[in-house]
Amino acid sequence: MIIDQHTALYGVVGFPLKHSLSPVMHNAAFIAKGLNAVYLAFETMDLEGCIQGMKALGIKGMSVTIPHKSEVIGLLDEVDDLAKRIGAVNTIFNDHGRLVGYNTDATGALRALEDGIDLSGKTCLIIGAGGAARAIGFVLRDRGVRVTIANRTTKRGEELANFLDCSFLPLKEIKSIKADILIHATPVGLHPNIEQCIIAQDAMHERMTVMDIVYNPIETKLLRMARSLNCLTINGLGMFVHQGAEQFRLWTGLEAPLSHMAARVKKTLGDIHEGDSGQAARERDP
Ligand code: NAP
Repeated sequence: MIIDQHTALYGVVGFPLKHSLSPVMHNAAFIAKGLNAVYLAFETMDLEGCIQGMKALGIKGMSVTIPHKSEVIGLLDEVDDLAKRIGAVNTIFNDHGRLVGYNTDATGALRALEDGIDLSGKTCLIIGAGGAARAIGFVLRDRGVRVTIANRTTKRGEELANFLDCSFLPLKEIKSIKADILIHATPVGLHPNIEQCIIAQDAMHERMTVMDIVYNPIETKLLRMARSLNCLTINGLGMFVHQGAEQFRLWTGLEAPLSHMAARVKKTLGDIHEGDSGQAARERDP
């Protein structure tokens, strides 16, 4: 690949970003499609400066992540209707100097779920009340799924439940409902804390579909427990790759090379965990 005066620049803005897999995923997509483009990580809290820089330098597209997804809305020229209704933007497209915001987290989660199950007539318990839970709850409600929110902090959980016009349950009471689908949308279980899980096994049942949006590791402790109960499990990689594929389509107008993107992210995650075991072995045997 040659980087020259025609190379298009894309990136992700957020803080922190050192574990972000968006650069490997999007660069794999550009290479697979033979596009003269690169995608970089811009770790900054200076969101306003970043948005000005995007216009001034002609950066074509940007992913937006924690903690900027809500604040960015006020800095854009236009926000698509779904992102506006969710109240969060995770994608910016620079349309000849006009910055337009979208939310592809919602679309990504929906595609990952619909790859595995038919959502009609289903009930869903979402654990978490942050940005991801909000986007997922919103699209599921739009699809007619009956949603319940459970969260560690009652105030935040109740606020999201009010926004979605659905019910709220304290985390310790989740055993009391047996939903068709359980979606875990908190960072608990994320690498390196891979033995953590806030959901007890008796809150699940064998006809349940269990989705964890954490994708590092690909099979979290929650998904291992769900698999041992014979539940259908959906890992977070599907949502991550589908939301990235939708970003790629918005930016380039082309269909995304989904399997290349997934393979590259899987390979990188494999390398990370192999590196961890190597490190652990070296620590045991200096
Ligand atoms: P966020 O806005 O910061 O929300 C975090 C949520 O997790 C809150 O509900 C918080 O509860 C809860 N939480 C945090 N630590 C907890 C703990 N120790 N015990 C119980 N609950 C806890 O984050 P987000 O944007 O929603 O993202 C959540 C996770 O989803 C992250 O790990 C992120 O990487 C992942 N994610 C994955 C994808 C994907 O494509 N697969 C996309 C987006 C996000 P309180 O309200 O009580 O603080």
